[in-house]
Amino acid sequence: MATALSLLTACGGAPQTTAEADKFDYTVEQFADLQILRYRVPEFEDLSLKQKELVYYLAEAALQGRDILFDQNGKYNLTIRQMLEAVYTGFNGDKNTPDFKAMEVYLKRVWFSNGIHHHYGSEKFTPGFTSEFFKQALLSVDASTLPLAQGQTVEQLCEAVFPVIFDPTVMPKRVNQAAGEDLVLTSACNYYEGVTQKEAEDFYNALKDPKDETPVSYGLNSRLVKVNGKVQEQVWKVGGLYGSAIEKIVYWLRKAEGVAENPEQKAVIAKLIEFYETGDLKTFDDYAILWVKDLNSRIDFVNGFTESYGDPLGMKASWESLVNFKDVQATRRTELISSNAQWFEDNSPVEKEFKKEEVKGVSAKVITAAILAGDLYPATAIGINLPNANWIRNDHGSKSVTIGNITDAYNKAAHGNGFHEEFVYSDVELQLLDKYGDLTGNLHTDLHECLGHGSGKLLPGVDPDALKAYGSTIEETRADLFGLYYVAEPKLVELGLTPDADAFKAEYYSFLMNGLMTQLVRIEPGNNVEEAHMRNRQLIARWVFEKGAADKVVEMVKKEDKTYVVVNDYGKLRELFGQLLAEVQRIKSTGDLQAAHDLVEAYAVKVDPTLHAEVLKRYKKLNLAPYKGFVNPKYETLTDADGKITDVKVTYEEGYAEQMLRYSKDYSTLPPMNN
Ligand code: ZN
Repeated sequence: MATALSLLTACGGAPQTTAEADKFDYTVEQFADLQILRYRVPEFEDLSLKQKELVYYLAEAALQGRDILFDQNGKYNLTIRQMLEAVYTGFNGDKNTPDFKAMEVYLKRVWFSNGIHHHYGSEKFTPGFTSEFFKQALLSVDASTLPLAQGQTVEQLCEAVFPVIFDPTVMPKRVNQAAGEDLVLTSACNYYEGVTQKEAEDFYNALKDPKDETPVSYGLNSRLVKVNGKVQEQVWKVGGLYGSAIEKIVYWLRKAEGVAENPEQKAVIAKLIEFYETGDLKTFDDYAILWVKDLNSRIDFVNGFTESYGDPLGMKASWESLVNFKDVQATRRTELISSNAQWFEDNSPVEKEFKKEEVKGVSAKVITAAILAGDLYPATAIGINLPNANWIRNDHGSKSVTIGNITDAYNKAAHGNGFHEEFVYSDVELQLLDKYGDLTGNLHTDLHECLGHGSGKLLPGVDPDALKAYGSTIEETRADLFGLYYVAEPKLVELGLTPDADAFKAEYYSFLMNGLMTQLVRIEPGNNVEEAHMRNRQLIARWVFEKGAADKVVEMVKKEDKTYVVVNDYGKLRELFGQLLAEVQRIKSTGDLQAAHDLVEAYAVKVDPTLHAEVLKRYKKLNLAPYKGFVNPKYETLTDADGKITDVKVTYEEGYAEQMLRYSKDYSTLPPMNN
């Protein structure tokens, strides 16, 4: 599971200035609804040479997977990327025309989304340039730079691909979740070919054994296709689908294995290689278990088919990689939380029968990202909790991380962008956010990840999937409420996690302002709230707003025709969070689908159109981008006369297009449109 950034965290807080950080430019560029940032990798220089080498090899393994995700996101993506890049770099005409400029923005969006659909909303981009312009441009560039099949002309290429780019009715959504439609046939993602939703479901239902207590993650690493009328899997592995990319990943993993920090880590890497070579999902589980148990290494990584948000049936995993090392100082904070996990569980407002008698397997750390790749690049999560297999989580635990340097970059880049000045009610709240916003935001993420998701239990016999389509919203609601309730806990001051008894108010104010108002900037006019994390935040905010209305705990007030959130009673607000936590845990523990449905539909989905319009108007004036992503730092090895690595240098100068073009040149591992 991945934690996305809430909008407000992205716009929060005080600068934790150091002389060095002051000089660092966190912003790169802005276009469409996107802002590109860069992040620092503090303390990389302090790693040992062997550790630096390990990071370098794992980073190479990470970058080799880029094309896999492009292809997973849609079968024309690699072809379209190559066509756009050929024109972007090889066009000899006027590059200042509106058509060329619009094509440039379109290409930058394709790079950002790893395909032609929005990375978040999953709807297809509307090109701002004409098909006539693009065709002429393609005809004008060196044909050897185009993805032409054997004997294919440029005209034929255009004929085959243009409907995918220009016709809004062709492949309109990457992932379609609309109930009642065939989700497989109507989704443009490339996980299924020629099969219906029913055929896919039947295929996997036949494989599943309900009595198996340690099931593999069926379908995780394959495309499901129909060949000669027979439904079958094409497995992503060495010698299989995506083999040419996976071979390169394995090459660099072997190098990494050679400089592993300890035998445990070496075994993790070896098992991952074995999985890539065999495609065997049992081996994948063995790997995940070894990975969960490797807690003593400074360097860590994710590399593989991981999250299944991109598959409408939630089985097939997109490829991603994150290479990182432990932020030792910040990890003391999460270790302190984790070591008190039982106390938090015992003292939560939840009914005793729904609590875990023994909380186990909570391992939490703050990490410094060294490279982001695949489905974590350029847009990234700020927290990750893996593995995803439920039985492994129960029997062996899970690793939970928050990515400190990424959160820090968001905060630093947002400072002074005018967002708070526009939406925060008064100087009192502004000062709260300035003083405590970063700190309590991080703390809430830690509590959500380290304790929230791991707390509570299902009653015996309750199906873990009982809440169906409401499951992920309820789960995120539960984790957020756990964090909200405890961020105000006096014990946190005692533990030294918060400086004083007022700090939590910054997070409460932020959360409500975001959930009641400002997250609406991400929603198109007329649309409902759909994404699980956004639903969860609105659910909580609207529920406490309504339940506290009689006591005016939270109010929405008008000042000079602008709406603001005002919190009048932070103590009562905490009680309300506690009440809702108890109810949401009951829903989860008992699998009460009806109650989940009622809660989500009443509070989480619908948008007040008048308020929405106002928020959009105020936000537009600020000229900010609602979505953010990152360029990676660049790693280069220094070698001696014998070619032996003597040091690894990290630099931050690379621009966005520059990096994308370099990646396309150096890490093109798959042929375009291999169908
Ligand atoms: Zn979560």
